[in-house]
Amino acid sequence: MVGLPKTLQDLRRVEGAVRVTCRACKAVKQHDLEELILDRRSRRLSTEWEAVRHTMMCHECGGKDTRVNGVPFSQSDPERRAIRSRALLMNLALAVLDDASRRARDEDVCVPATRLALRVLRPYLPDRELLVTFWTEAATGRGKPYAPTLQAMRWIVTKLVDAGHPVWAEFR
Ligand SMILES: [Zn+2]
Repeated sequence: MVGLPKTLQDLRRVEGAVRVTCRACKAVKQHDLEELILDRRSRRLSTEWEAVRHTMMCHECGGKDTRVNGVPFSQSDPERRAIRSRALLMNLALAVLDDASRRARDEDVCVPATRLALRVLRPYLPDRELLVTFWTEAATGRGKPYAPTLQAMRWIVTKLVDAGHPVWAEFR
């Protein structure tokens, strides 16, 4: 990684987990990165890396004197690497749709980037229905008083989460 991470989300580029080591009782706990992001957001805690480093308590003794590091994924395991690469692709497609959703009321978002994102997501969904809905709402929803594709976007995310796909916290 270039430079130090600013947020937990930055850790996604290279690291898979956050490890908390207690200096007092020596307990070690490894946190899944996405679960930690979700947990901190739901408790309205910062996901800034500096804040995380200084506010993770020991799960055993509750002590505050802890060492917090990002734990790199193993680069040697081709299967895990492929899984991570697919997860990144899926989440980037969601980022494109999320962005399109925010603009769909005011702009034409029926552009190649949106089509590509919908195509990328097809293998992760049981059928193409929601993807077609998203496109149709985007094509017909301009000028409506509400964001036209927002509901389709939510359904897509719900389906992906229900199927166990590693959807990033910000889309949930
Ligand atoms: Zn402890």
